[in-house]
Amino acid sequence: MERHQRVVSQVAAKVKDYFSRKEAFRISHGSTNSTRPSIKKRVIDISELRNVLKVDSKSRTALVEPNVPMDRLVEATLPHGLVPPVVMEFPGITVGGGYAGTAGESSSFKYGFFDRTINSVEMVLADGEVVTASETQNEDLFRGAAGAVGTLGITTLVELQLIEAKRFVKTTYYPTTDVSAAIEQVERQTKNGENHYVDGILFSKSHGAVITGEMTNDIPADANPQTFSHPWDPWFYLHVEEKTRSITSPVIEYIPLAEYMFRYDRGGFWVGRSAFKYMNFPFNKYTRWFLDDFCHTRMLYRALQASGEVSRYVVQDMALPYPNAEKFIDYTAETFNIWPMWLCPLKQSPQPTMHPHTKGNLASDQMLNIGLWGFGPANKDEYLQKNRQLEKRLGEFGGMKWLYAHTYYRESEFWGQFDQQWHEGLRKKYRANTFPAVYDKVHVDIEKYKKMTQSDWGLWMRSIWPLGGFWGLWKAMLSGDWRIAKTSSWRWRTSERR
Ligand SMILES: Cc1cc2nc3c(=O)[nH]c(=O)nc-3n(C[C@H](O)[C@H](O)[C@H](O)COP(=O)(O)OP(=O)(O)OC[C@H]3O[C@@H](n4cnc5c(N)ncnc54)[C@H](O)[C@@H]3O)c2cc1C
Repeated sequence: MERHQRVVSQVAAKVKDYFSRKEAFRISHGSTNSTRPSIKKRVIDISELRNVLKVDSKSRTALVEPNVPMDRLVEATLPHGLVPPVVMEFPGITVGGGYAGTAGESSSFKYGFFDRTINSVEMVLADGEVVTASETQNEDLFRGAAGAVGTLGITTLVELQLIEAKRFVKTTYYPTTDVSAAIEQVERQTKNGENHYVDGILFSKSHGAVITGEMTNDIPADANPQTFSHPWDPWFYLHVEEKTRSITSPVIEYIPLAEYMFRYDRGGFWVGRSAFKYMNFPFNKYTRWFLDDFCHTRMLYRALQASGEVSRYVVQDMALPYPNAEKFIDYTAETFNIWPMWLCPLKQSPQPTMHPHTKGNLASDQMLNIGLWGFGPANKDEYLQKNRQLEKRLGEFGGMKWLYAHTYYRESEFWGQFDQQWHEGLRKKYRANTFPAVYDKVHVDIEKYKKMTQSDWGLWMRSIWPLGGFWGLWKAMLSGDWRIAKTSSWRWRTSERR
């Protein structure tokens, strides 16, 4: 705790300094899952805040610094027989990023977004003051900073709720043969109190799978736990596709808990397949084994960001009211033809909020997230035009994007989705003017980016195939992140069977 307080005082002093000079700055915490181009001027580095300070079995809470990623968090809580209720599927997503951004996964239909599982946060405000925010202290800041992408304060400590962990997840794959049946099945499964996890994959319009998970300590004697973290293991989505291709009734298997939580890591859901396609490299179990170090999400996103391909890749999560989800999927299938798509049911946060929420008279406590991740048009103008149209159609269907990704809204359109007066009132109350404004942070100015590409020869080189790809691989390798998966202790070992 002493070390923590020392680091926080140093951060607070730097923040105060910028405040007195009225200079805007950004936060760096050493990693990111955001796909927007980043600007590296005037940065406060908080990467030292990366420890789990305490796990309290009695109160079922953990005191965690913001840069603790999901895999290290789970490794710290599992020995106490506990896990966080919401663990983001990518092991590298951090606690601080999960709170400041929008983070939700397949247990979020039950618990809501990640921030709804937090009891309190310690924050450094723009003038250097260190405050606590919770349901009982600075409640407006506590809820208002969730999803506001760090525009109200720097999170320096989080008290997180924990729940009892069980050894396995009894996983059921429900095959579906049309989109509406898949959506209906997801919604039905969220109402089944036994389910701890619910999500779905649409491989095409005529083939999908809804996946449900119940935590359990019991596993039938003849069942072999299925794992997804070892080089010869299947990628989760390919496994589900194969399992459900030619069946008509549900199939069950048992997956060790942490293997389930990070089941989409290898292949980054299915984003990793695009890397094989880009490099014209064969895609089969041998090549996936051979390139396994590069196929974990941390490495994939390092490569995607460094290669410059991120500027033509569509990475969007969009939350919609259930009744409009099928029509929206029809629209995206026609316009982008990107498959698979991810379905993830989410519980809405109470208003006002900077999290995505559904609009209009279709509003209910639940919504459906659609993950659309794949190559968009190579032509920048067409890419922009299709993305703009996507935002428009999404709005017409009463849905909203997650703010981690590229957003192209005009400022008035952007604020049409949120309570601007409330958010700006909070910025004023908590003296946040030296933090960047949320719109400036999430908006991608494509014209500015195009000009930058033309004048920066490095960016220009990377836009030439396959130089960008090789550069991305090289930078990913240099990061050393390939070591992380190899040494992760959450991975299941066969000796743990009994
Ligand atoms: C490709 C992709 C896939 C995703 N898939 C999933 C998924 O499967 N499940 C899921 O739940 N979520 C997913 N997300 C969303 C993700 O959880 C959020 O984007 C989350 O905010 C990322 O956290 P990060 O640790 O990478 O932080 P960053 O991306 O670095 O940060 C997010 C924002 O929070 C700010 N921030 C970070 N730390 C702090 C801090 N300590 N104090 C103040 N501000 C801070 C940053 O400045 C930034 O604006 C995905 C995002 C992407 C880009």
